[in-house]
Amino acid sequence: MRKYVIMGIQGSGKGTQSTLLAEDLDLVHISVGDIFRWHIQHHTKLGAQVRRIVSAGELVDDELVGSVVRQRLDIHDWNYGFIVDGFPRNRTQAEFFLESYDIDAVIHLALPDDEVRRRVLARRLCSRCGLDYNLIAHRPETEDRCDVCGGELVRRADDTEEALERRVQDYHRKIDPVLELFSRKEFVITVDARPDRDTVQLDIRKQLGLPPAGDRNP
Ligand code: AMP
Repeated sequence: MRKYVIMGIQGSGKGTQSTLLAEDLDLVHISVGDIFRWHIQHHTKLGAQVRRIVSAGELVDDELVGSVVRQRLDIHDWNYGFIVDGFPRNRTQAEFFLESYDIDAVIHLALPDDEVRRRVLARRLCSRCGLDYNLIAHRPETEDRCDVCGGELVRRADDTEEALERRVQDYHRKIDPVLELFSRKEFVITVDARPDRDTVQLDIRKQLGLPPAGDRNP
């Protein structure tokens, strides 16, 4: 049984890296952001409660987030373990987590702020079908047009330079104390998130003492 938390600023590849790890180790990937988006899409009561906050890129209140995480983990479908992505995002959430669950490791994806800016400002979204693009890693074949539906590619409303600057500052203000708390109590590995996704994944696995992907009997 492996219980991991993955942390990293927006654009650091948290979603990609947790999916790779979860698929290979049969972990349940719990993304708090995905849970909220699911509820918003399916018009549930919770979805109505968080819709405005999530679309403004603000943080949902700690009690609500804590109960969503607890309910998800209470399903106990994680026979081989789990990887939690997007939680905790501040000290109160981290304290709740430490009181309730034993974590084997915290994976911290480190990305310098100027690289965060470069990656996030390159993100585009199809205004028609919603497909994500990135002008650095996933360019459309025709400039500003979606490869799938031909819709116009636009920036997400909250991806302006000012909003990004606020999010970067906010991230450090809230996450640095969480990392400090975890470093005292848990095993934190810090991984350089700048290289390509396979190199980052290899580094994570090396630091966690895991064999390379797909090789379960070293
Ligand atoms: P993400 O996909 O991780 O960027 O999350 C999308 C949105 O969900 C965030 O902008 C927040 O509004 C909300 N959210 C996700 N995780 C948390 C959390 N741990 N605490 C508060 N709000 C969260």
